[in-house]
Amino acid sequence: MLELDSQVQYVKGVGPARAVALAAKGITTVEDLLYYLPFRYEDRSNPRRIADLRPGEMATLVAEVRTSALFRTRRMPIFEMTVGELGDHRPPEFGKSPPATIKCMWFNATYLKDRFKPGQVLALYGKVEEDKRHPGRLQLMQPQIEVLSEDPEENEEALPESLEIGRIVPIYEGMGKGMLTSRGLRRVIRSALESVNPELPETIPEPVRKRMGLIPRMQAFWRAHWPEPDEPLRNLQASRSAAHIRLIFEELFFLQLGLELKRRSLRERPGISFRLDESIREALKRILPFKPTAAQKKVLGEIAADMRQAIPMRRLLQGDVGSGKTIVAFQAAIIAIENGYQVALMAPTEILATQHYFSARSILEKAGYRIVLLTGSLEQDRKRDIRRHLAQGNAQLVIGTHALIEEKVEFARPGLIIVDEQHRFGVMQRLKIMKKSRDDAENTPEPDVLVMTATPIPRTLALTIYGELDVSIIDELPPGRTPTITRRVADTRSDEVFDFVRKQVAAGHQAYVVYPVIEEGAMEGELKAAIQMYDELRKHILPDLRIGLLHGRMEADEKDSVMRRFQRRELDILVSTTVIEVGVDVPNATVMVIEHAERFGLSQLHQLRGRIGRGAAKSYCILMTGSKISEEGEQRLATMVRTQDGFEIAETDLQLRGPGEFFGTRQSGIPSFRVANLVRDRELMEAARREAAFVLSGSAEVPQSEVSRALVHLRASWQRRYGLVEVG
Ligand code: ADP
Ligand code: MG
Repeated sequence: MLELDSQVQYVKGVGPARAVALAAKGITTVEDLLYYLPFRYEDRSNPRRIADLRPGEMATLVAEVRTSALFRTRRMPIFEMTVGELGDHRPPEFGKSPPATIKCMWFNATYLKDRFKPGQVLALYGKVEEDKRHPGRLQLMQPQIEVLSEDPEENEEALPESLEIGRIVPIYEGMGKGMLTSRGLRRVIRSALESVNPELPETIPEPVRKRMGLIPRMQAFWRAHWPEPDEPLRNLQASRSAAHIRLIFEELFFLQLGLELKRRSLRERPGISFRLDESIREALKRILPFKPTAAQKKVLGEIAADMRQAIPMRRLLQGDVGSGKTIVAFQAAIIAIENGYQVALMAPTEILATQHYFSARSILEKAGYRIVLLTGSLEQDRKRDIRRHLAQGNAQLVIGTHALIEEKVEFARPGLIIVDEQHRFGVMQRLKIMKKSRDDAENTPEPDVLVMTATPIPRTLALTIYGELDVSIIDELPPGRTPTITRRVADTRSDEVFDFVRKQVAAGHQAYVVYPVIEEGAMEGELKAAIQMYDELRKHILPDLRIGLLHGRMEADEKDSVMRRFQRRELDILVSTTVIEVGVDVPNATVMVIEHAERFGLSQLHQLRGRIGRGAAKSYCILMTGSKISEEGEQRLATMVRTQDGFEIAETDLQLRGPGEFFGTRQSGIPSFRVANLVRDRELMEAARREAAFVLSGSAEVPQSEVSRALVHLRASWQRRYGLVEVG
């Protein structure tokens, strides 16, 4: 008998080669295998008789190969096969209806040549159409094929017991280049189901199972793979059968249980209780260069309330690009500094760190705070100096890139860690900074952590990635902004576009021209195109204007100086790659020309557009497009023209790309799910969060033994699934 954690090799039908193919898909145990659900189901409970087929329908047919051949037409090779009703071998008789056969066709299917022989039994699934050349006759177009048996003799006994017909049949995505076909997987998974210990311990606490109406675990595995005959096909295809709901909920429930535990254990650690008296309130007001918006005041209130409590703050500050998060972060920093603590502010790029450093100095230095900048590209000596200042408590605010995590930075009195543009940092990195401060003795209070992001994260994702954080939202832009006008223009009209840029510059404004180069590992060719375009603009198109170039391959101080010249209006135009995507703030820039806009992701376009529309003057975002645009590209462009609402854009992005790619990189830290799907299963995610909180709430309705069992299961499976996230 197998257990869930038995190695997959012990399942009948899995030899060493198949085990390798499975392992490549992350399937190493019986449990992994059982979670490999069909991606679709076929109702073969009543395979159709050929004579009953109707044009226009999708049909599953179980039939026998009669003849097959590859034809080469002038346009393309076509593979044709005639199949007949099983067991119907009557010779054609005069005056009787001909034996039921149907022709199947596959275009460009040279690969099917020589694969079939008469007598083989096939399952075919495809669209029935009328044969144009022989009106009245039907054909099956490009059906999916599965070989059910090689030998019709053998069928006579084999078929009634078959896994392949007479029922709803699971269709799996094959793996290992034919090593495991859908049919092979059907057998292997079936034998796993049959040989696994049926006494699977229940994992979800009983009251939750009741409230959610969940079926038992083992039953769910069986029915998700081998549905009951009366299960509506529609529910199965939509992953909404009772079996699917049970398995999906379970996955989400344990994720949420883990996050809830984290939230709770954090609350048990000692935090710093920052004082917030009149003199500090005065200091907060004194530094303000403008009147804060109501939203800024509200979130500062939430942050200040956290900071006063002796519980470590873990708060996410979400606010669309340009909503004014920086000043709020500086105010939080003041509270910590005025209490005698040190503050670290991390930004994802050197440009952004440097920009923060300069604005921190102009806003905070007059209050007498000592501010330092620590980035990876500084000289070793300089870094060492800064580290010493921090360790001795001489510097009160350090602003830096992830060098702050990587270099051994120690603080004399760490009080607050601020992470800007969080989505650029992976979850790993986030945990690493939070941990750094935890290495100290058990009872030193933990610093507070504030993470800031401009990515309006759809709620389901927020519940997942930031599940252990409290959330504050700035839902209002500073006054006096006019909406940016966004237009798409074919790049054949670039003359007009650059004429427009010239007019804007003549009116005293500045412009960005952005090229699609992915920074790290940029293809040489692409980078060259950006540099070439810069030359072209400078020499031929806008020779009378002052143009600067910024890209990721430049030295840090070169980047700095270009950025600063642009900020000081010594440059009219900044030609750039996406290094300016995050955070860069030059309110006088009113035009953004994005070349090959169709190549950028939606969130990226939104971030880029956020660089303009920051002042009172009208701003223009011009999406220049090449000639070849994919359908998804069209949708992205249309979304950008239609709306400026970050949440709407993020939702569309999530739907277009799916959660895995939503943040662009694998290190985004979104756990990969086995059966759940963040877009489809939003409601189950909400339910899972609610139920997880209920289970840990200490309610008398949940027996302690049930809670402990769930926690044991969580620790066993969580560790493996989300390895990097520690629990409780
Ligand atoms: P983000 O949230 O994208 O980080 P920033 O903090 O960079 O936004 O702010 C965007 C711009 O708006 C900056 O130029 C900032 O000085 C300005 N700003 C922020 N808050 C206000 C406000 N309440 N009134 C006027 N301007 C503001
Ligand atoms: Mg910012």
